[in-house]
Formats: sequence, C-alpha cells, structure tokens
Amino acid sequence: MNAVASIGSLGGARASAIELYDKPSASYADKLAEAEAVLRQAAALGDVTQANSLGVEDMVITDLIRRGKLDIPVFVLETGALHTETLALLERLQARPDLRVNVFRPRLESVIHFIRNDGQDAMYRSIELRKACCEIRKMEPLARALASKRGWITGLRREQSIARAEVPIVDTSEVETRGLTKFNPLANWTQGDVWHYVAEHQVDYNPLHDQFYPSIGCAPCTRAITLGEDFRAGRWWWEDQSAKECGLHVKQPTISDEATA
Ligand code: SF4
Repeated sequence: MNAVASIGSLGGARASAIELYDKPSASYADKLAEAEAVLRQAAALGDVTQANSLGVEDMVITDLIRRGKLDIPVFVLETGALHTETLALLERLQARPDLRVNVFRPRLESVIHFIRNDGQDAMYRSIELRKACCEIRKMEPLARALASKRGWITGLRREQSIARAEVPIVDTSEVETRGLTKFNPLANWTQGDVWHYVAEHQVDYNPLHDQFYPSIGCAPCTRAITLGEDFRAGRWWWEDQSAKECGLHVKQPTISDEATA
C-alpha cells in the first residue's frame, strides 16, 4: 500500500485518497458481485483484454482479475508522456508474477515527426493538434492492443461525467463494426465503492490520487483538481468541457476516426 503525502486534510492532518473517499454505498456487496460476474463473462468470451490506464478504477479491475484467477491479460498504453509516479506503478504491475501485462508504445518515428513539425507543446494550441497527438500516442497503439481481440474491459463509471452517464455494463454496440464487446464492470460503482475496494484489498494505486488527481492521463494534459471541481476537470483543462475524451471511449465506425471525434 502506498503511504504517500497528500494535500487532502482530515482534522488538520494530511489525508490519503483512501481516508478521503473510502465510503461504500449500501449496495456495495451487490456491485462487487456484479463486477466479478461480468469479468467471468468476459473471460468466457475468450480473447479479451483489460485496458489499464494505471488509474484507480483500472487497478481495482486488475486486482479482481488477479483474485479471480481469470485468463485475461492486461494492457497499458505507455504514451511516452506519463508521470514518473505512473511509470513507477507500471513497473510494479509488470513485476507481478500473477499478471500478464502487455505494454504498447507509440511508433517512435510518428512521435518524432509530430514534435518536429508541431512542437512538444502542440496540444495546447488547438483541439486538432491535441487530438493528433492522442492519435499518435494513444489511438494507434490502442488499435494494435485490440487487434484480433473479441472484447476489452474498461474502468468507465457512470458517475464520472455526463458523457459517461449511460455507459452500459456490457456494450455490444460495436460487435458488428469492430468485432468488439466492451465490458464496463464498474459502471455502477461510486467513487466511494472504488476506494472501499482499494482499502479492503490493499490495492496498489497511483500516488497522484493522493494529490487530488482523480483522473490520470499524460503529464502535460493532467492537473490536480480543487474542491468542488468535476472529476474530469483536470484533464485537458484548457479545452471546452464537451471535448474531454481522448477518443478511447468515443464510439465511431473506425478506430482511426475515434481520435478526431
Ligand atoms: S493526453 Fe496529451 S500528451 Fe497524451 S497523447 Fe493526448 S495530447 Fe498527447
């Protein structure tokens, strides 16, 4: 378990994310059983993989996969722009003997070409350039991660944003177009449920969560949030609210189109 200093405050003392958010809902046990059942269903489908962003929801799902001894490999998109805390967590995850962790990185030549043409900080100049960076660093590696897969598992929760309010637990809407079923076992979970699971099972987590980063992405595009701000407020904070998805979870006919949605 991480024992990392935080900026949270409980009775004057600095508090960790667990101390702040470990508040299970009344139906926590039912939601946990539901998530376990969804993961068994995913494993039964075969050729399914879990997308782990190294944020807390995905660490919970990886722990459920591990505990359930399910034959589901985990993949991580290492964009080349992650925080040192996130990279350290990835190393710890890879060191676990009871997990299969596949890491997908962007094509070096594409990154070099983009930076040469548009600069290291291009994402701040326009939504188009930001999405172009996401296409190179996330979407193209995602396409490789999902190639020949029948399904993938994500940590999306309905509570996270208006855009995610209707997330189904099992999403079959892209089976015909992409051949992929998407499993969202935590769709019904609250933030309190997630952190209760972390506390209960001593799940290793990203210490950035102790510094008010509820949603963790690339370092240049993620900041801490302040009290009362939306869960996703720290992601691409300079952009309009409606643009705050990188494309990974935006439904489009093809994967390459997703990054421009
Ligand atoms: S989140 Fe930011 S750094 Fe990461 S791929 Fe997208 S634009 Fe690039």
